[in-house]
Amino acid sequence: MTIGLETRLREVLDKKTVEKLGEALGIDTIGDLLGHYPFRYIGQGERPDLGRLTIGEEVTVFAEVRAAVARKYQPKRPGQKARRAERLEVVIADEDGRTLTLVYFNQPWLKEHLTTGKQGLFVGKVGQFNGRLQLNSPQHFLVEEWNVTGGLLPVYPGTAELPSWKIMKAVHTALGLVPDLADPLPREIRSRLGLLGYGEALHRIHRPESHEALGAARKRLKWQEALVLQTVLVRRKSASLAEAATPYETGGAILDAFDARLPFDLTAGQRQVGAEIADEIARAHPMHRLLQGDVGSGKTLVALRAMLQVVAHGGQAALLAPTEVLAGQHHRSIAEMLGDLAHGGELGAPQEATRVALLTGSATAAQRRTVIDEVKTGAAGIVIGTHALLYDGVDFADLGLVVVDEQHRFGVEQRDTLRAKAKRPPHTLVMTATPIPRTVAMTVYGDLETSRLTELPAGRTPIATHVVPYTDQRWMRRAWSRLREEVEAGRQAYVVCPRVGDDQKDGDDLGGADGDRRPPLAVTDVIEQLRSGPLEGLTLGLLHGRLDSDEKDRVMRAYAAGEIDVLVATTVIEVGVNVPNATAMVVLDAERFGISQLHQLRGRVGRGAHPGLCLLVSEVPEGTSSRERLDAVASTTDGFALAELDLEQRREGDVLGAAQSGVKSHVKLLSLLKDADIIEAARAEATALIDADPDLRGEPAFAALVDDLASDRGEYLEKG
Ligand code: ADP
Ligand code: MG
Repeated sequence: MTIGLETRLREVLDKKTVEKLGEALGIDTIGDLLGHYPFRYIGQGERPDLGRLTIGEEVTVFAEVRAAVARKYQPKRPGQKARRAERLEVVIADEDGRTLTLVYFNQPWLKEHLTTGKQGLFVGKVGQFNGRLQLNSPQHFLVEEWNVTGGLLPVYPGTAELPSWKIMKAVHTALGLVPDLADPLPREIRSRLGLLGYGEALHRIHRPESHEALGAARKRLKWQEALVLQTVLVRRKSASLAEAATPYETGGAILDAFDARLPFDLTAGQRQVGAEIADEIARAHPMHRLLQGDVGSGKTLVALRAMLQVVAHGGQAALLAPTEVLAGQHHRSIAEMLGDLAHGGELGAPQEATRVALLTGSATAAQRRTVIDEVKTGAAGIVIGTHALLYDGVDFADLGLVVVDEQHRFGVEQRDTLRAKAKRPPHTLVMTATPIPRTVAMTVYGDLETSRLTELPAGRTPIATHVVPYTDQRWMRRAWSRLREEVEAGRQAYVVCPRVGDDQKDGDDLGGADGDRRPPLAVTDVIEQLRSGPLEGLTLGLLHGRLDSDEKDRVMRAYAAGEIDVLVATTVIEVGVNVPNATAMVVLDAERFGISQLHQLRGRVGRGAHPGLCLLVSEVPEGTSSRERLDAVASTTDGFALAELDLEQRREGDVLGAAQSGVKSHVKLLSLLKDADIIEAARAEATALIDADPDLRGEPAFAALVDDLASDRGEYLEKG
């Protein structure tokens, strides 16, 4: 048998190890195992001590076992038969005599292993029990098992049962079985860039002699990740450019009529981006464009004008929104902006008029039938909806344009599902209000062209943001009286809380009661307190994800109509809600929200002619990183600056967000934040490769990697 990366481990390793690798880490083949990279390395003479331990942090320490005691105990779990269990407590000490307790449950065999005098590395999360720090089931890596001569000691992500050293042993065995690996990267690129061979890079990442050698290995493997990914994206983009789409000429009766009655001038950006989009829709190849623009920059209007261009020439446009609230609002505001241009088929409507249909999951069967009919016959030129639009049974007469609002909530698959409802590939416009740094756009949206709206419509005054300490009575009184002042001046306000309340678990709860912290404030409690306290006498409304959709809709309408003074809500209002008369917002437990989320929330106020005010209420003390985040949000309204900051604080996995899961598991070493140079260079190489050889005939091994990733669409990650 020839052994290669596809060889299954069960053919070459012992059964027990194979089982554990499969169960704990999903590792099945030699390739999987060699792709399980160490997460850190310990240099020679490096002895991380017990000097700095922070609760909740993952630590690696070097220490000696001082004592190990096994204790039997009766675990008490209500409703379960008590069975005897065993807890192993191990005390370790570092060179300076500092000690720490390790706790293992029901792993009796460890007693023979972790005996007094043994030295090694212990890797785990710092926890607390009865006021004392401890590591719960840490991984251990005893010196006697290292068998590494010189070089760096790799530490692998593992489990208590499958500790790092066992993984290391398995990796070493596997490396020995595949001494020569064919290199999938195009030879010319590899030699021009001076990249290590594939096999060598794998050897070095698992057994580096030095930090330098490790650096070269990582660079080589990152390049492979970046080049494969960019090639997938570049190829997808060039394939869609070659597809035939229905062209819709620029202009048209309904668009001209709409423009003629617009009460304001388009911003320069809206005009420029609008023209770009109009030209693309007029071409016989599908548009794939990402429209980025800060909150309030007027993206919806740009999208509506594109939709009208399509409608003017007999096509239909669909607008996909991430929440019912947002779909309902789009429907209302678009119908309102169109006026009688949305009364197609009715007596007295202009000849060029169309209809605007709304379809969400909460539509009654009768409503649904009407809408489905309007969509099928083409009577509705514009169809707005949530996921409900994606369902079977919703058929379009002639879907020419798909607009996806707030893309970060949708996966690629959903975009594709809707597009599949068109007879020919439709034009696609994806809108996002979360500014996306260039490298992320290139990776997550690498198959789209991008446009940006960089200015806000004239006449907007910037939003003033302040951090307010929750525990300071005087400040809090001032905050609530500011809200009253806004209402007395005829404006409206929002109060945002992280939790719905009433129970432990629900969809739009953020976090939950964790440990020592008090539970996050809940809208259902807060509204009562405000009603009988600081906001007594004002009309308060309640909005959260668990209300049924009729109620949500009723509340939003009442708020938009000015019948509610203050809306107490969860993040259901985060995206897109547009009530220009709302000028003030108080965010409670503000540290529970992310930077971009706060920026989005804040974007709900100051959308009209009056200045906006946003108060971020929090009890986190100054000097903490949470407080710094809040100060950052308070210090700027530049969404791009905040997005960069947000990105630095998030993990790669989150950054990839709704990207295909295949992409997520593919990108292991590459950092979207730190490897901008590699990503950009790989993009250029991929473009040149595909230009020269669209089907990659000359590079079969590389083509196989590209096909692999391209076909692994996995499950989309639905967020929010
Ligand atoms: P977003 O980019 O956040 O989706 P919207 O499209 O909702 O922004 O626009 C926010 C508000 O600004 C809406 O009330 C819209 O009617 C208004 N608006 C859009 N373009 C202009 C403009 N050129 N001049 C004045 N107001 C505008
Ligand atoms: Mg919007």
